[in-house]
Amino acid sequence: MNHPIEQVVASGRCIGCGTCVLASQGEITVQLGDRRLYRADLSAASPQARRAASRVCPFSDEAPNEDVLGVPHPSDGLQHDSRLGWFSRTFAGRVRDEAALRASSSGGLTTWTLCRLAELGVVDAVITVGSPGPTPGELFGYAVTSPDELPTRRRSQYFATTMAEVLQVVAHTEARFAIVGVPCYIKAVRALCREDPLIARRLVVFVGLVCGHLKTQAYAEALAWQLGIAPAELAEVDFRRKDPSRPANDYLFAARAAGEREWRSAPTRDLVGANWGHNAFQPEACNVCDDVVAETADVSFGDAWLPRFAADPRGTNVVISRNPMIDGILLQGAAQGELELEPITAAEAVATQAGGFRHRRDGLAVRLADDLARGLPVPVKRVPPEGRAGGRRRARLVRHRRVMAELSHSAFALALAHDDLAGFLAVMQRQARRYRRYEAGPVRRAGRRLRGCAARVARALGIGAVPGLPDRPRPE
Ligand SMILES: Cc1cc2nc3c(=O)[nH]c(=O)nc-3n(C[C@H](O)[C@H](O)[C@H](O)COP(=O)(O)OP(=O)(O)OC[C@H]3O[C@@H](n4cnc5c(N)ncnc54)[C@H](O)[C@@H]3O)c2cc1C
Repeated sequence: MNHPIEQVVASGRCIGCGTCVLASQGEITVQLGDRRLYRADLSAASPQARRAASRVCPFSDEAPNEDVLGVPHPSDGLQHDSRLGWFSRTFAGRVRDEAALRASSSGGLTTWTLCRLAELGVVDAVITVGSPGPTPGELFGYAVTSPDELPTRRRSQYFATTMAEVLQVVAHTEARFAIVGVPCYIKAVRALCREDPLIARRLVVFVGLVCGHLKTQAYAEALAWQLGIAPAELAEVDFRRKDPSRPANDYLFAARAAGEREWRSAPTRDLVGANWGHNAFQPEACNVCDDVVAETADVSFGDAWLPRFAADPRGTNVVISRNPMIDGILLQGAAQGELELEPITAAEAVATQAGGFRHRRDGLAVRLADDLARGLPVPVKRVPPEGRAGGRRRARLVRHRRVMAELSHSAFALALAHDDLAGFLAVMQRQARRYRRYEAGPVRRAGRRLRGCAARVARALGIGAVPGLPDRPRPE
């Protein structure tokens, strides 16, 4: 076995989900590490406890992979796609309730579906992430959420959490739960259900969130600091505030300092480290993940990042359903006028996540090849190692993203130690310039240089800025 849980932890690929705590009956613990990510501590665990934990660890070869786990409620008639996994229906849509839509990250269908599952008596409560976290001082965390509380737990929390405590609650509560999570968390609890019949009776619906990658807790701090709120003063953040004057993919980041009532905000894309392509604060585990859409969930919700949907500031979900019961609930919601729902093809659903699939498939092939070349152990993935997957330019970009992720952790640790953000900003801005060069390729780079030259000539001739000729690099 090349990549059991011991190797996952040793190589920094533990995502901190905490399923190992339950599987090992508490012999393994998880703690927040210096990267502000939960990490399993195996030091006190017996060999048997380690093996039990390894069978549910989402990055261990001892656990079943997404194809083996399949979907929670197999049914005839599901179709298969190598990127979406099994699916029954694919939709784009949103809720019609304007207030609910404004308060949601995207189309609000996740919260609507969770509420409907509770109303119909399918579940008694939902396990989801909201604020504040159960650990004092943590901005977000997993908790059991009652149906009444669900509407107050909307939005995406790009924030490392653990399920260790909340799974203890499941183990000790006679109730049926839906659980919401990013792909590796859903995979982990699905594997746990195979091992633990009691948990399997209680976790009855699995709701996945499409995931580009997770962020350590430092991500929130780095963005808030750029708004003038130092980590020690940070009280609340909002990663996805909609601005009705901007397209859905141009949302705001907002933060509030302790003792202040006013929120401060800025367009997310103006903040250093917030460009999703830069992989800032990405955990190492995400480098070896090949599941973008939570293939083992009953239903997955993401953003319909296609131009015709992204242009609409209200937000639009992509929905990948794998359970006819969920199909029925959504279609009934549309028939009753509560939802706008448009069937889309599987190819369109995949296209909404084109960047994610490039990073998790071609990008993964490159990263696996690189690690093997360095003699490092790698997990068995559904993608074979290939150092030039996606072409040489893309491979260079993939490698640069990995560098940026690593530098973000170390540069931010230094910023915290010296109570000075400037060094972090300088490092990330320098790397972002290099990223832009790799991203653009020689033709677009030449075009950019030409436009820069023309702008300089225009300035020298005193004819000011020429429309379409940027005289300064755009913000990331
Ligand atoms: C780390 C991360 C990365 C993502 N990457 C992508 C991506 O690359 N592409 C894409 O299309 N979509 C991505 N998403 C999903 C997207 O941000 C929205 O969450 C999704 O579209 C649902 O929107 P909604 O309006 O239906 O959700 P809402 O109705 O606003 O409800 C969101 C629900 O998700 C729960 N939740 C929020 N954060 C977490 C979390 N970290 N873990 C578990 N539950 C949580 C909330 O408690 C709430 O129940 C990501 C989400 C996360 C958390």
